[in-house]
Amino acid sequence: TSSIRSEGSGRVSLSGSGSTDSGGAPRDNSVDMPSHDDRWPRQNSLSMKEWDIPYDELKLYEVIGAGRFGTVYRGSWHGAVAVKVLHVHALNDHCAPLDTFKHEVATFRKTRHENLVLFMGACMKPPRLAIVTSLCKGMTLYTHIHLRKDKFTANKSVLVAQQISQGMGYLHARGIIHKDLKTKNIFLENGKVVITDFGLFSVTKLCFGNNARGDSLGIPSGWLCYLAPELVRALRPHASLHLPFSKQTDVYAFGTVWYELLCGEYPFKGQPAEAIIWQVGKGAKQSLANMQASRDIKDILMLCWSYRESERPDFPHLLSTLEKLPRKRLARSPSHPVHLSRSADS
Ligand code: ADP
Ligand code: MG
Repeated sequence: TSSIRSEGSGRVSLSGSGSTDSGGAPRDNSVDMPSHDDRWPRQNSLSMKEWDIPYDELKLYEVIGAGRFGTVYRGSWHGAVAVKVLHVHALNDHCAPLDTFKHEVATFRKTRHENLVLFMGACMKPPRLAIVTSLCKGMTLYTHIHLRKDKFTANKSVLVAQQISQGMGYLHARGIIHKDLKTKNIFLENGKVVITDFGLFSVTKLCFGNNARGDSLGIPSGWLCYLAPELVRALRPHASLHLPFSKQTDVYAFGTVWYELLCGEYPFKGQPAEAIIWQVGKGAKQSLANMQASRDIKDILMLCWSYRESERPDFPHLLSTLEKLPRKRLARSPSHPVHLSRSADS
């Protein structure tokens, strides 16, 4: 299993199939602790500094959204940016959250892909912790699907899913698990997919709580249906940090995104959390009986939602499956013009 633990020393350790490079490579989760800790190569510490943005250099304009752990502002830093300012009131002396934050920043800075949001840097001096990325111009898939009720043709859904698979395949190849893949974290900019918030799950949950109130499991609405059975079965009150995220749990979440694209709603729509937990935990899936789609398209869904993680495809496999879907069924309909981006068109 995988877990993220705050150990006695206040350090945060990742074990099992955690979010970063596997294998024997040194993990840089304490890369630039300004201390006598010289177990890490010096250039690691220097390269961390390159990503440190002095808070004073940022201009913050209006709030564009409030997430679970912080506030997102439209801002300016050598051009338009999005700034996620973390609520740091929960930071305590143990400084585990700060270590985790730096660890996740270290992960973030290793990503360069057309379908991933551009990470520009972070403010890493408490109490001012913030993540600076490029500002996504389009709307999220969530807004398209659930708020605007935009219809995605099978054709367009495939193009979007291909780009998500490309971005996710890249992340996984670099040893990064997204942990929070959902339509709210996928932007569509003129037909181009941009994935955000990869690898930030622990800092958001670890430092700043998980919305848990009283005896509730602290499950934000619209989160549960992305959780693979092994995650659902591991849910405990106040303990979302120990969830066994893996590449395969990202694939399960992708299945849910694929369902939303095709059906315009969440799986298990309208059902209470307890009912979803019970069904998913014992291996039941959203029925596809009423879904208007080809066998191939439904097969992708069923594979991604496989109860056993070993039966879920990986993203390169998904990409080639999506590319092989019969194109003739995917003709553009004049009443639903599809805007294709360069990358999506090929
Ligand atoms: P969530 O992903 O659960 O909606 P977040 O804290 O990640 O919560 O985001 C809060 C809001 O800020 C959302 O409306 C999101 O679309 C917006 N947002 C986050 N990152 C960016 C970005 N890079 N560009 C534009 N808007 C963003
Ligand atoms: Mg987000």
